[in-house]
Amino acid sequence: MNNINRIVDEFLELVQIDSVSGKERQIADLLIKKLKDLGLEVKEDEAGKKVGGEAGNIIGRLPGTGAGPVLVLCAHMDTVQPGCGVQPVVEDSLIHSSGNTILGADDKAGIVAILEVLRLVRQNNIEHGGLEVAFTIWEEGGLFGAKNLDYNLISAPVGFVLDSNGQPGTIVTRAPSQDHIGAVIRGRAAHAGINPEDGINAIQVAAYAIAQMKVGRIDHETTSNIGIISGGKAVNIVPDSVTIEGEARSLSTEKRLLQTAQMCYAIEEAAKKYGAVADVLTETLYPDYDLAVDSLPVRIAAEAARNLGLESHLVETGGGSDANIFNSKGIATAVIGIGMKKVHTTEEYIKTADLVMNARYLFEIIKVAQKITG
Ligand code: ZN
Ligand code: CA
Repeated sequence: MNNINRIVDEFLELVQIDSVSGKERQIADLLIKKLKDLGLEVKEDEAGKKVGGEAGNIIGRLPGTGAGPVLVLCAHMDTVQPGCGVQPVVEDSLIHSSGNTILGADDKAGIVAILEVLRLVRQNNIEHGGLEVAFTIWEEGGLFGAKNLDYNLISAPVGFVLDSNGQPGTIVTRAPSQDHIGAVIRGRAAHAGINPEDGINAIQVAAYAIAQMKVGRIDHETTSNIGIISGGKAVNIVPDSVTIEGEARSLSTEKRLLQTAQMCYAIEEAAKKYGAVADVLTETLYPDYDLAVDSLPVRIAAEAARNLGLESHLVETGGGSDANIFNSKGIATAVIGIGMKKVHTTEEYIKTADLVMNARYLFEIIKVAQKITG
């Protein structure tokens, strides 16, 4: 395909627009214009207002011209830090940052693939059952865009999120749910040298609680972590307050609930043992999903990969994405690999060949979806 320059140029254009989470106005405006120029009907939802971001999710629609299910193609507009002032460097067959920032292939490589496939569909008059585009805000650190998306604007029963670091052909069929666990342990302050027996050491309570927990890799489907602990004012004061924060994840809802309960129990029992008080708060950040091998998105993505001679890999992941939320809203959605590498680091890079392949692969997905039934 001779579109390589067009694809690379658009990628370089997008990564040079600052769009760290919550600051997506500039890129949103550009993408609204690009989608309109490609003939889509474009709307922006209220998600930004709800979460305190600059822009809402951008939803585009192209009415169907043929058979097959409506497909929603999704990529997120935001990046992690350090993501401002990205200076991309094209070197041989790959693109990386100058080394002071991330590159932002996560997830602008996904956006570029979607824009390019819309161009290909238009230029080649390819029939399809309807295409919807969701460019989401604030995916990093909370999936806030997808969680607050106006799902009335999406009619597709099938979706593809272009946001995995696997090679094109990688299809993520399972992803975990995640709980956040936060606890404040209140002991009693006392002078450490004069009357320590009047105190209740909240740090000791927290330490005991954490020592009783299972953390790390729990089993092949489940992980947990205590990631933050803070408290204490001075070495000569028995500390009266400690905050602990952690998480539990599992591909199995039941196991995640069990793991979270075990961690909460450890905190409450430790508080009881020492006469302290624990306020424990848990929140499920996102649900898990598990797509069957014969579900529409997996069948379509696998057949499209085969048609292009790509190895198709069905994989599980340990991380959440917009697809977790889409699936919970009844849109059967797979995450697909786009070849981005070392994401969330200043060494992030992507091969230009993968930028091209991503668009070809999406093009094939649209063609396969046309013929699929059931
Ligand atoms: Zn991403
Ligand atoms: Ca990411």
